[in-house]
Amino acid sequence: MGPRVLGRPYVRHDGALWCEGVPLEVIAAGAGTPAYVYSANALRERYRALDTALAGVPHRIHYSLKANSSRGLLQVLRDEGCHADVVSGGELVRAMRAGFAPSEIIFGGVGKSRAEIRAGLQAGVKLLNIESAAELDVVEDEARALGVRARIAFRVNPEVEVANAHAYIATGSRGHKFGIPWGDVLSVANRAIASKHLELAGLDMHVGSQLLSLDPYRDGVERLAGLARTLQKAGAPLRYLDAGGGLPARYGEEDAPDLELFASIIVPVATSLGLELIVEPGRFVVAESGALLTRVLYRKLSGGTDFVICDAGMTELLRPSHYDAYHAIEAVQPRGGQATVDVVGPICETGDFLARDRTMDDVQPGDLLAVHTTGAYGYAMSFTYNARPRAPEVLVDGSRWSVITRRETYDDLVRLETETLEWQEA
Ligand SMILES: *Cc1c(COP(=O)(O)O)cnc(C)c1O
Repeated sequence: MGPRVLGRPYVRHDGALWCEGVPLEVIAAGAGTPAYVYSANALRERYRALDTALAGVPHRIHYSLKANSSRGLLQVLRDEGCHADVVSGGELVRAMRAGFAPSEIIFGGVGKSRAEIRAGLQAGVKLLNIESAAELDVVEDEARALGVRARIAFRVNPEVEVANAHAYIATGSRGHKFGIPWGDVLSVANRAIASKHLELAGLDMHVGSQLLSLDPYRDGVERLAGLARTLQKAGAPLRYLDAGGGLPARYGEEDAPDLELFASIIVPVATSLGLELIVEPGRFVVAESGALLTRVLYRKLSGGTDFVICDAGMTELLRPSHYDAYHAIEAVQPRGGQATVDVVGPICETGDFLARDRTMDDVQPGDLLAVHTTGAYGYAMSFTYNARPRAPEVLVDGSRWSVITRRETYDDLVRLETETLEWQEA
């Protein structure tokens, strides 16, 4: 991967950690902890860097909402000209509420329900991505019922090898649940081409996440290109080639992805096919803009392990326990000195940790920590186990900050429960 061209939004002034022009202590004092913080300018910078790299071909960046679908972030990206990629009816609603027009939204997902498919068709999304022959039947059925011609793309499984990825984030190899199996694509395509309710307008792949090598893109788009030529000959009115998401973020000392090299792999393929290029990045766009702020509650030695117990844990940030993910952690105002510790949360699970066996700033109760590169799959995967209200989200833009999602309250936690039961006879 190439040189570090992208900036880091978290910087030190007189020893204290800031996000852009705002001290993190100011945000923690105002919004409380735990809290997620995002840099608006880091979002803009990444969007623009990718947009510039792809300038050689007509293209569109569809930000993948599942990485983080908070309205305050979506609006920053939308103002840049970014479009949206959604994988559920809920994300479709979130995208539209944030101001994306249906024609700016791609609707994918391996298990869209009939109701979700109908909602996508009724809204008039740019593309519905099809992931199986059975789903094609449902889409055709719903299109017929609505009297519309569904614009669809095939998400195919190009069956490429994805090296070094955590098993849970490789998605485009043989035997994964995602995409139309490579061997079935032609027969499914012929059915789509023959249907007057379907317009096969694109081919799509998404082979994995945090792809530190560009080889899967090279292998995948090459396979897609061969397929596109075959389908064009068979009469498919293709307009889009979608290379998916998967560009990596820097969690530790990795280099930033080489966007020029990435573009040099996919742009010529789209150009030679005469197709508009689509990419669906999530993590790359938002991960590095985010930090999770958490306060140290206690320090305790147990069985030879030095525990730092803080007010955020797996409910705020699931990635360490779910993916064994690494997130850099530092003190917002270091005292000096280092210690080797387990950073854990208050949740009653041994799997509740943010870092294990980590040598980092020595900290004491009351100290504020920043858990880095948490803008993607952080808040979006947070949950309320142990009846913990979800943390607020804060957007920083220059020297200003604002809460974009308020902290959940205890009332929010019980809002959905029926107070007086209304029994129904079976
Ligand atoms: C998750 C997902 C993405 C985004 O993946 P990142 O690794 O965050 O870039 C893009 N497209 C599809 C279909 C996805 O499921």
